Amino acid sequence: MNFSGAIKSKLPGVGTTIFSIMTAHANEQKAINLAQGFPDFNCNPDLVKLVNSAMKKGLNQYAPMPGVLSLREKIAAKTEDLYGAIYNPETEITITPGGTHALYAAISAIVGEGDEVIVLEPCYDSYIPAIELNGGRPIFYELKYPDFKVDWNEVKKLINFKTRMVIINTPHNPTGAVLEADDMLQLQKILDNTDVVVLSDEVYEHIIFDNVQHQSVARFPKLAERSIIVSSFGKTYHTTGWKMGYVLAPADITKEFRKVHQFIAFSANTPIQHALAEFIDQKQHYLELSAFYQEKRDYFQKLVAGSNFKILPCKGSYFQMLNYAKITQERDIDFAIRLTKEFKVASIPTSVFYKMKTDNNVLRFCFAKSNETLEKAAEKLMKV
Ligand code: PMP
Ligand code: GLN
Repeated sequence: MNFSGAIKSKLPGVGTTIFSIMTAHANEQKAINLAQGFPDFNCNPDLVKLVNSAMKKGLNQYAPMPGVLSLREKIAAKTEDLYGAIYNPETEITITPGGTHALYAAISAIVGEGDEVIVLEPCYDSYIPAIELNGGRPIFYELKYPDFKVDWNEVKKLINFKTRMVIINTPHNPTGAVLEADDMLQLQKILDNTDVVVLSDEVYEHIIFDNVQHQSVARFPKLAERSIIVSSFGKTYHTTGWKMGYVLAPADITKEFRKVHQFIAFSANTPIQHALAEFIDQKQHYLELSAFYQEKRDYFQKLVAGSNFKILPCKGSYFQMLNYAKITQERDIDFAIRLTKEFKVASIPTSVFYKMKTDNNVLRFCFAKSNETLEKAAEKLMKV
């Protein structure tokens, strides 16, 4: 079937996301999928029981637009406990159908025609389309390979009267870099006396290694008062397919955020919210997540040590970057495809996370996998 009318694409340069492409390619090639970021093990069965029981209780209709209040209250308590920040569950916390939705609604609520948004790249692939769909203009700052540190003086030079938002992401996808307290203080300083909003993507807040503390913007009151924080239950509870997340923002920003959220989704999945409101009390599930993934990171690194790949530092998230310059000078996209086809391991080429497709000969591998999967993948990678 074909529509013969003229459709003017709003995203003419955009195709299917790399995550769908590489997962499809992995399936087609019967390769091990370390490409798209998701665990290959199940979530806690108690959580499934809680969802099931909420469904049986008949909690199957629309949740309130901002989310089930008991869950928002628990998130408020958790945020105060972890980051010392007080968010009012009535007016400053919103439950969303996933982090991606939260990012889109946040950008849509704040960014308008001609507004500039500073983006540190490489970056998660939804940011730019979301900015452009809302008439905004992404202004790029490139994090420099291989440590991906931010020079905030350089970022400051990009700020002008058109700047509406800065997007940050810590722990960072795809590089595994994390922002430190000093980064936050510098960001706070360069935004002083501006009305720039910070969109802080913290979906990997509980996956940070080597006893480093996650520096949420919530810890910095002067930053928090201009920030929208995005979190995802998918990452924290091994439930990426449930698409559940939440947003923390001061009341005036939340008011605008909800105006958009209510017309994109209205609300998020009801029984899962009730289940999470109970499950969140078992703090060990998020407090022990860093140790759980650190073990996986270390195991994967040990398994591929001595291969022709160079292991890059990974301080957080569940992604390990490997440099392949010793193996080939092929473009990362071509090499990722060949690796899937010939060696049966799928990864993500990191150039896709850059506007100018910067190619550092680096592939991203997701280690949120069973040890058996990691062993099988590493065995193959050792032969490359
Ligand atoms: N931000 C980053 C950096 C991510 O990696 C992801 C995971 N895809 C998201 C946001 C979106 O999270 P969700 O799956 O909850 O939409
Ligand atoms: N966040 C995951 C990744 O970076 C998957 C995102 C997606 O499939 N859209 O791989």
